[in-house]
Amino acid sequence: MSNTIQSVRGMNDCLPDAADTWQAFEGIVRDWLRRYGYRELRTPILEHTGLFKRAIGEVTDIVEKEMYTFVDELNGESLTLRPEGTASSVRAVIQHNLLYDGGKRLFYIGPMFRHERPQRGRYRQFHQVGVEALGFAGPDTDAELIVMCADLWRTLGISPTLQLNTLGDYASRHRHRQKLVAYFEAHQDVLDEDSKRRLHSNPLRILDSKNPAMQALNDAAPKLMDELDDAARAHFDALQALLRANGIAYEINPRLVRGLDYYNRTVFEWVTDQLGAQGTVCAGGRYDGLIEQLGGKPAPAAGFAVGIERLLALMEAAGTPLASPVPSAYICHAGDAAVAFAGQGASALREAGLAAVLHCGGGSFKSQMKKADASRARYAVIIGDDEAVARQVTLKPLRSTAEQTRVELPLAIDYLKNTTT
Ligand code: ATP
Ligand code: MG
Repeated sequence: MSNTIQSVRGMNDCLPDAADTWQAFEGIVRDWLRRYGYRELRTPILEHTGLFKRAIGEVTDIVEKEMYTFVDELNGESLTLRPEGTASSVRAVIQHNLLYDGGKRLFYIGPMFRHERPQRGRYRQFHQVGVEALGFAGPDTDAELIVMCADLWRTLGISPTLQLNTLGDYASRHRHRQKLVAYFEAHQDVLDEDSKRRLHSNPLRILDSKNPAMQALNDAAPKLMDELDDAARAHFDALQALLRANGIAYEINPRLVRGLDYYNRTVFEWVTDQLGAQGTVCAGGRYDGLIEQLGGKPAPAAGFAVGIERLLALMEAAGTPLASPVPSAYICHAGDAAVAFAGQGASALREAGLAAVLHCGGGSFKSQMKKADASRARYAVIIGDDEAVARQVTLKPLRSTAEQTRVELPLAIDYLKNTTT
C-alpha cells in the first residue's frame, strides 16, 4: 500500500452499499422537508473566510482551530471550506434579497469540513441536513422546528431525547456574562487552560467544557435562566406550552450553550446515549441577530442541523433497515442472434421502468449465471439462439426456488413488473 494514494484522513469514501443507504435516507429526508414546505438552497462549498469569522465568532472552536482555510494562490484571497451551513445560507439570503416578500423556509444538505481529531461519529468531512426558518420571530417557529425533528425520528425508527435551553437576549446575556466572569475569576485555581483563555473573550463557552474536572464548578455557576427578561421568558414559556401540546417530551438543560456564537433565546439538542461520546445527532436554535450581523436588514431566524453520519449510525443501532434497490433482471445471452435480441430486450425492460443489467464480455452461460447472482438481480433473463429465433426469453428466479419459465418478451416484462420476489 505504501505506493498508493489514500483518501485524506477523516474523509470517507461512500461505497455503493453505503451509498444505497444514503440515497434511501436522502429520499426520506427530502420528502419530509417537502411535507413541511421547506425548499432547498444550494450554496458553494467554498466561502470567503471572513464570512465564518463574522457569523460563527472568532473565539469558537470552529473558527479557532477547526477550519480548512487556505489562500487562493491565484489571487491571494483567504477561502474556507464551509464548516457549517447557516453562515452560507444567511449570506445567500442577504445577497439575493430572498426575504423581500416575507419569511422563507429553507433547507440544505451536503458536506461540511472541520479539522477535528477523527473518531467514531467525528470526521473531517461530514454531512448535514440543515433547516433554516428565516424571518419568523415567534415561538411557534421554534416549535415547528422541534416538531418536525420528532416527526423525522418517528419515520426513521429512532428516539433521541430533546434537551432545551434559552440563552435570553442581549441585555440578559450581558448581565449573565458579568456574573460568570466574576464567578470564574473567584475560582481561577480550578480553571483549565482553555477556560482561562476564554474567561474574558467568551466565558459562556466555559460552561460547554467537556473536561470532567470542570463539571462541579460549571454546575454551580450563575444561571442565565435567572437573568431572563420578560420577553425572553414569555417566548420560552410559550415554546414549552406548544411542545407539551404536541406531546413532545423535553428536558431543560441550563448548561446547553452551543458552540457557535450566533444563537439567542431558544437552543436545543437531540441527544442519544447509544453513540458513545458523539451523542448529539441534531442541534439548533434561534439566531435573531445573525442576518443583521452579516449586513442584512434585521430579521429574526431559527434553524437546526442534523449530523447525517451520526443519525445513520443511530438507525443502524436501532436496527432500522433502509431498503437498497436491486436490479429486476440480469440478462444473459450467448450466440449471434441472441446478442441483438438481448439488447432489444434490455431496452424494452428499461422503458417499462425496470432496472436491467445487460451482460457484457461474453463467456459461458455458467459464468454469466454467477455474475447474475452477484448482481443481486431478482431474475436472470436467459436468451440463447433458440429463444432469440422464437422472440422469447427464459425467466429464472434467482432469489426463490420457483421454476424457470419460457415466455414472450412482453409477458416477461409484465411478469417482472408485477412480482416482488
Ligand atoms: P460536537 O459538540 O459533537 O462537536 P458541534 O456542537 O460542534 O458538535 P454543530 O456545529 O452544532 O456541532 O453541528 C450540528 C451537528 O452536526 C452535530 O450535532 C453533529 O451531529 C454533527 N457534527 C458536527 N461536527 C461533526 C463532525 N466532525 N463529524 C460528524 N458529525 C459532526
Ligand atoms: Mg464540534
